[in-house]
Amino acid sequence: MCGAAQDQASLFLEASYDPDRIGDFSFASRKLPEFMSYRLLRCGDCATVYAQAAPPAAALAAAYQAASYDSTEEARLAADTYMGAMQAAIAGLPQRGSALEIGTGTGVLLERLLDAGFAHVVGVEPSSAAIAAASPRIRPHIREGVFAEADFADQSFDLVCCFMTLEHVPDPRPLAAACLRLLRPGGVLALVTHDYSAPLNRLLGRRSPIIDIEHLQIFCPKSLLRLLTETGFANPRTAPIVNCYPLRYWARLTPLPGAIKPGALRLLDALHLGGLRVSMSVGNVIAFGTRG
Ligand SMILES: [Zn+2]
Repeated sequence: MCGAAQDQASLFLEASYDPDRIGDFSFASRKLPEFMSYRLLRCGDCATVYAQAAPPAAALAAAYQAASYDSTEEARLAADTYMGAMQAAIAGLPQRGSALEIGTGTGVLLERLLDAGFAHVVGVEPSSAAIAAASPRIRPHIREGVFAEADFADQSFDLVCCFMTLEHVPDPRPLAAACLRLLRPGGVLALVTHDYSAPLNRLLGRRSPIIDIEHLQIFCPKSLLRLLTETGFANPRTAPIVNCYPLRYWARLTPLPGAIKPGALRLLDALHLGGLRVSMSVGNVIAFGTRG
């Protein structure tokens, strides 16, 4: 992210995919193993964790074009959480003209932004399955493909959102720099990423959701502030994300053994507790930068 050489990095996590092991495991379980990662290094300069070697950008674009998408329920709950986290930032914007979301999925957030008073919204999404699942109201606002700055005019947005996407892009720094150029003065870039330094992720170690073969870099508040500062944003700031989900949903995410989980979920619903809303920090962070 900062351009420092690999000799300034230390080992964060050894690679955990061995083609032979994956083959055996895959045949045994009929699904891909979880918690796979490239060999991950932690930069001693900017604190970003990154994959020592990653596939070329074109291969990534093709993989995401064919990818499936998050469940509707998950996307809806996440959009509510993110709108809450952005409330003050949106209230402080000079105007609610246009908003862009990079990695919009089914476009649930775009719908929330329209409801919050933005006149124009546009989302960029490489997965055609996600776009096909978008609501008829939102689908016309989604561009299929990977984000390209040239598709948009300079200084044409008041808000740019990039949520749970920055880990997946080949190079986060030019992306942030492009967002700055696309923003009008006073406009805000909002980033949501995992935070590898958050207590839950440190506790879970290799079983944390941050450990994913799709993650080419993993951030912490320090590295996000560095990204925003170095790309020229004013007033960079971060805050932990607090997710508010029904208890049923939390139980499904919990790393309970597979044999116990269905029973636990049935028990919650039998006790009428499944729908109870519970707030928890799952180790994600939101970062904001303003175009001065
Ligand atoms: Zn660095």
